[in-house]
Amino acid sequence: MESYDAIVIGGGHNGLTLAAYLQRAGMQTLLLERRHEWGSGLSTEEATLPGFLHNLHAQYMEFIDYMPFYHDFGLERLGAKMIYPVNQCGITFADGRPPIIVHNPEHLELTYKSIAQYSKHDAEVFCELKRKTMEVDHLFCLLYWNPPIPPEGDSLRSGDDLVIALLKHLGLGKEILSKSVKVVVDETFETPELRMMLYRQSMEWGIPPEWAATGFGFIASICWLIGIWKMCVGGTHTLSHAMESACRREGVAMRENSHVKRIVVKGGRAVGVELADGTRYEARKLVASNADLKQTMFELAGKENLSEQWVRRVNNFRIGPDHCLGTTTFALKEAPDYKSAKWDPNINKTFYTIVGYETPEDMITYIRQATQGKVPERPGSGTWVNSLWDPTQAPPGKHAMTGWFFFPKASELTPPEWDEVRSTYNEKFRRLWQQYAPNMTRDNVLADALYTPLDMEQKVLMREGCFSNGSIAPDQAGWMRPFPEASQYRTEIEGLYLCGPYMHPSGGVFAACGYNAFKNIAADYGLPRLWEDTQRGY
Ligand SMILES: Cc1cc2nc3c(=O)[nH]c(=O)nc-3n(C[C@H](O)[C@H](O)[C@H](O)COP(=O)(O)OP(=O)(O)OC[C@H]3O[C@@H](n4cnc5c(N)ncnc54)[C@H](O)[C@@H]3O)c2cc1C
Repeated sequence: MESYDAIVIGGGHNGLTLAAYLQRAGMQTLLLERRHEWGSGLSTEEATLPGFLHNLHAQYMEFIDYMPFYHDFGLERLGAKMIYPVNQCGITFADGRPPIIVHNPEHLELTYKSIAQYSKHDAEVFCELKRKTMEVDHLFCLLYWNPPIPPEGDSLRSGDDLVIALLKHLGLGKEILSKSVKVVVDETFETPELRMMLYRQSMEWGIPPEWAATGFGFIASICWLIGIWKMCVGGTHTLSHAMESACRREGVAMRENSHVKRIVVKGGRAVGVELADGTRYEARKLVASNADLKQTMFELAGKENLSEQWVRRVNNFRIGPDHCLGTTTFALKEAPDYKSAKWDPNINKTFYTIVGYETPEDMITYIRQATQGKVPERPGSGTWVNSLWDPTQAPPGKHAMTGWFFFPKASELTPPEWDEVRSTYNEKFRRLWQQYAPNMTRDNVLADALYTPLDMEQKVLMREGCFSNGSIAPDQAGWMRPFPEASQYRTEIEGLYLCGPYMHPSGGVFAACGYNAFKNIAADYGLPRLWEDTQRGY
């Protein structure tokens, strides 16, 4: 039997991250992935036609500048390459009203100009919040690339000091933490066109804007994350390839097509794993799992090795309805030419363009329907045409569009109902899209395909199609993620650790769940504290 110090189950980007750091810290590490490919949600496929590249999951890379893995392992030298579009997030309208475009923070004057078409007040407030947030962005890094801090003494919330420092710097009161994102947005901005764009951004980060006590999402998703998105040249799979190369270069033993069926537990300790084909590997020190929580604890480790409390906790961990997306893909002859471009032609070359909503009520209805188990009647979408920047993503002169729908959880519809959605919803969207960009005729479409939450569940085991493999509702966030006893990446089985996106800080290509798990494993095994060799402070 092959024997390793550490075995990591699952080669999503967090599994890759943990494996790379463990190996660098001196642990001989084996990484096992059930699929033929590494990177899970960092995947790019010819979903419509050969030569048209579509990122089926992650699109925008908002954490690249902060992500320890990216910098510590020199991923750009291993093939990762980013573009930083100036025009970042736009919203366009069927009646040809001016678009609103948020530009990257190096071009705040352009964002100001765009919002000021509607309201000088909103332009000033938005740009000021953005400017101030970017001054203290390291505070988010301290929150996210560290294990969560359980509350001490009489405090109710963890990470209090950092949150308070952020609020103070932004001039916001503590009361926003108890409010919903929608209330905070509505109290802060007067322009309906801007408000609906911001509701959508909140939802994209897993926070339905009407959920109570999610006001921190206003700071994280809206003040910080909007407009700091990078684009992977060649598609997001180039980032997972670079991560894979980093692991191989460190000396991690990598095995794809290796479906783990069981974690071997002896005397309350994780001592190895067994694959579906019966192959066994010994873990001399630890096993860590990037696979989803229920599978890891119930199917792989086994309920018989858990206390009643843990069985209850794992059972009660909720997956979705936030973070459930469908990915729409179109192979196009021409890129969309929006009616709103008569006011600002930049909307035709904006990294991410929101299409299909005329009023804030449209957006709220859409989000309510998706989170309440219905396929939204009005098929608005967030759209990307990455081939506008990166000609390698479509054949010469053609364009590849990829977009997101908010959809209900996979289990809300039967498989035949999802088949029906898969075969009809794109055309419904295209007809709506044409009202915004008249050249989006049927004739302009060479092919299209829709990838549903059910497809995501089946393909990469993102349960319910939820990209964090677990809701990020306030009671499942921070030190309560996935539940308090497990929040430090440790389990009650000695030597078994967790590093999936159901851990703090959640889904999204942070590479933080794997990084934070490494920090606590390093503490448990006396490994070198590699993060202390850097200047970044986290
Ligand atoms: C539609 C969509 C759009 C998104 N857009 C963005 C975006 O723009 N920006 C962003 O930052 N993030 C985005 N995300 C989120 C991001 O893709 C995910 O949060 C991220 O991929 C989670 O990665 P992970 O490695 O932590 O876990 P997972 O993706 O859950 O990976 C787990 C891995 O474990 C493997 N595995 C499971 N069970 C076993 C087993 N028994 N044996 C062996 N291997 C196993 C799986 O095959 C998988 O490879 C998006 C996600 C979706 C679905």
